[in-house]
Amino acid sequence: MNKPSEAGLGQADLGLAWDNGFARLGEAFYTPLQPTPLPSPYLVGANAGLARELGLDGATFRSQAAVEAFTGNLPIAGTQPLASVYSGHQFGVWAGQLGDGRAILLGEAQTPAGPQEFQLKGSGLTPYSRMGDGRAVLRSSIREFLGSEAMHGLGIPTTRALCVTGSGAPVRREEVETAAVVTRVAPSFIRFGHFEHFSAREQYGELRQLADYVIDRFYPACRGTDQFAGNPYAALLEQVSGRTAAMVAAWQAVGFCHGVMNTDNMSILGLTIDYGPFQFLDAFDPGHICNHSDEQGRYAYNRQPNVAYWNLFCLGQALLPLVGEQDLALAALESYKAVFPRELEARMRAKLGLAEAKEGDRELVEAILKLLAADKVDYTIFWRRLSRHAAGEAADTVRDLFLDRGAFDAWLLQYSERLTQAGRASAADLMLKTNPKFVLRNHLGELAIRDAKLKDYSGVDTLLGLMQSPFEEHPGREEFAGFPPDWASHIEISCSS
Ligand code: AMP
Ligand code: MG
Repeated sequence: MNKPSEAGLGQADLGLAWDNGFARLGEAFYTPLQPTPLPSPYLVGANAGLARELGLDGATFRSQAAVEAFTGNLPIAGTQPLASVYSGHQFGVWAGQLGDGRAILLGEAQTPAGPQEFQLKGSGLTPYSRMGDGRAVLRSSIREFLGSEAMHGLGIPTTRALCVTGSGAPVRREEVETAAVVTRVAPSFIRFGHFEHFSAREQYGELRQLADYVIDRFYPACRGTDQFAGNPYAALLEQVSGRTAAMVAAWQAVGFCHGVMNTDNMSILGLTIDYGPFQFLDAFDPGHICNHSDEQGRYAYNRQPNVAYWNLFCLGQALLPLVGEQDLALAALESYKAVFPRELEARMRAKLGLAEAKEGDRELVEAILKLLAADKVDYTIFWRRLSRHAAGEAADTVRDLFLDRGAFDAWLLQYSERLTQAGRASAADLMLKTNPKFVLRNHLGELAIRDAKLKDYSGVDTLLGLMQSPFEEHPGREEFAGFPPDWASHIEISCSS
């Protein structure tokens, strides 16, 4: 495949075949428009691994044409840029029409990884920008780039990020910052809010068209089902409930806080989407609120599972005109209640190295979480040290994390028996593949951002490499696996991005 070139007529050619399914839905779903160019763009971060998965040339990011294209300055041959319209519930309140206020869907490429939509985030004003400026700042774009790839590295369903470009163009937030654009990639960026939009407006034709599109493209099995009286829309709700449950269980197990679980930030494919004030826990604090703007703690870590169900309930209500009977919709939502605890239990058991369930495992998990919370133990470091202990290291490094060592010793005694039963070697093996050594802690992102503001992007690249293989040891990189410095607890991440 050729490296991207300017294919005449002021277009870039990425060498991909495009087939823009969402654009075919028609203009009730979006406004066609071009991104707004930014002056003198430069590359901040590039994801060579994802580029390869997508069949892009390895030299892609060395070409200025690609940098211009991924900033929105040069149209990409074959794409049909548009901003989609959606609505949503924000912080529990119906917010009415929202939409892609600063994102532009370029189109859908046919890649070796299947059909993938490319979207630019931060690419200028759209009809849905409301009071915003259509831009994203460098700081939050780097966080999204690294955050989504960290989640992918952990095996958690997420939108991906191909690259970040920056520009010196000023963007006003609490202070004046500079603009950046993230190129996001996912099979679809459709959100619960897209369905809520057409349902609230009683545009049931469009609602059905959207649901049929999603079913045909992503959930074809919903058609053939004899479950739910052969009702494909109820089956869709059930499938989305299951995927969302699995996603949130994965979040809880790894200690991920999303920060803004509004219904417009919930993917119909069960992908983690819209990385704003997200955080990987440092100390284990179940009530942790990562979003400085979330004064009520609606999206605290331990509330995420209930909020996800609340959001699915909104989706269920939106789909009701298609599902027909309320009982069917409620039955479909039940799958969340079945899948979430099952998935969470399996993930927590795996963290303890227990491939097979035995009576008492749940108590073992609950007991250690209680101790972690009581002593505010670092969540990631605890699990990694416990894994190394299972692999043969002395228990001291784990014990040292606790204030109440007697309580930990008592727990360890019980756990050791269970570990012996399970077989230490295979347990340790499972644990080292389940409990990451590296997560994208706030302070790590912050340090890379500080350097990037001074035009040193090496920190972004280093973190990308670590986060893409977070279970590997990466000798010599211990500083990225250590405790957060004192200043980390003062980092305030808000909705401002
Ligand atoms: P969020 O909570 O960040 O997912 O954003 C909620 C809504 O606000 C979405 O419709 C976004 O597109 C829009 N939005 C956020 N920031 C901006 C901005 N700077 N300019 C325009 N729209 C924005
Ligand atoms: Mg959003």
